[in-house]
Amino acid sequence: MKEDTILAATGRDKKYTHGAINTPVYHASTLTFDTIREMKQANANRNKGGLTYGRRGNPTTYALEQALCDLEGADGCYLYPSGLAAISGAILSFAKAGDHILMADGVYEPTRGLSQRLLTRLGIETTFYDPMIGAGIADLIQDNTRIIFVESPCSVTMEIQDIPAIAKAARARGALVMMDNTWGTPLHFKPFDHGVDLSIHAATKYMVGHSDAMVGAVTARAAHMEQLFNMSYQMGYCLSPDDAFLTLRGLRTLKLRLKQHEKNALIIAKWLEQRPEVDHVRHPAFESCPGHEIWKRDFTGANGLFSFVLKEGNEAATTALMEGMAHFKMGYSWGGYESLILTYYGIEKYRTASGWTAKGPLIRLHIGLEDPHDLIADLEQGFMRFNSP
Ligand SMILES: *Cc1c(COP(=O)(O)O)cnc(C)c1O
Repeated sequence: MKEDTILAATGRDKKYTHGAINTPVYHASTLTFDTIREMKQANANRNKGGLTYGRRGNPTTYALEQALCDLEGADGCYLYPSGLAAISGAILSFAKAGDHILMADGVYEPTRGLSQRLLTRLGIETTFYDPMIGAGIADLIQDNTRIIFVESPCSVTMEIQDIPAIAKAARARGALVMMDNTWGTPLHFKPFDHGVDLSIHAATKYMVGHSDAMVGAVTARAAHMEQLFNMSYQMGYCLSPDDAFLTLRGLRTLKLRLKQHEKNALIIAKWLEQRPEVDHVRHPAFESCPGHEIWKRDFTGANGLFSFVLKEGNEAATTALMEGMAHFKMGYSWGGYESLILTYYGIEKYRTASGWTAKGPLIRLHIGLEDPHDLIADLEQGFMRFNSP
């Protein structure tokens, strides 16, 4: 099946829908049995869609898990109450005291926080590496390296990593590759074709697509599912059926939305590149983005999220730019239909392996589905405020 067809057809098995077009929202904690035999059967099948108890899953969450497996070409999927819970769930499933993790220097900041706080407390050591390291990662792999955690492009600074080269080095030493594939989505980067073992998503972003639910997911090959499932069960992770429904709803238009986000963002990024205030644009489709060639090789598209670095500017100037925007709302997250703007202070604090030397401030945009000309007019006004704060 082609991707468009999967997006329309997946997660709609009649055992979930009973003939309705969409899988309904099943609100259920208790699921009852008529016979002991039925109860035993459901229990034996509880990691494979058996209906035993709401925390294990129900038809709505199973339909979403099926959809994500179909889209990413995975054997199994487990859902989490947020993207960050999916990250901690995946790492804790496979790391134990005494293990070592290699983590890209530009990971989502709370992922770094998890490793520096909880994982350190549990006796799991993390070494951060330069996201542009590629095959050179082999030199950092220790005998106790259990996980290489990649995120590509990196959050905020957008470096694209050479995942196949990293995966090859990992395989040679028996380490697992976990990837935060939130930016790529299951449509634009196929993790399992590039050597990734576990793919992690903040479905909160483009999959939900409307900024109204927190959802996390991990997809994996069969060999890793039992360990993932057992840890998630011990930790009590589960997803609400309402949020699973909203994610399935979002998936139906994921491809269409991504196309439009990508188109609008390219128009605005090109406009920004010409602005005298802008030092460079960090968008994977631009040569000025570290790892641009890798993106061209490994990804099949972009989306609405990118950053740009200003030549110079103090806090008063960036504050003047950011405050008073008409369409760009100031806020965390991205992936909804609306445009967002953020600036990041002290990026260098989170760059222990690769440093951050940009002179001017970095601004991250999420380009939504508004008309890009209205967004450009908004940014133009913002630059006027920036230039005379
Ligand atoms: C937002 C985000 C997360 C965390 O997802 P939540 O659902 O907000 O917990 C993880 N990784 C990346 C790259 C993100 O952008």
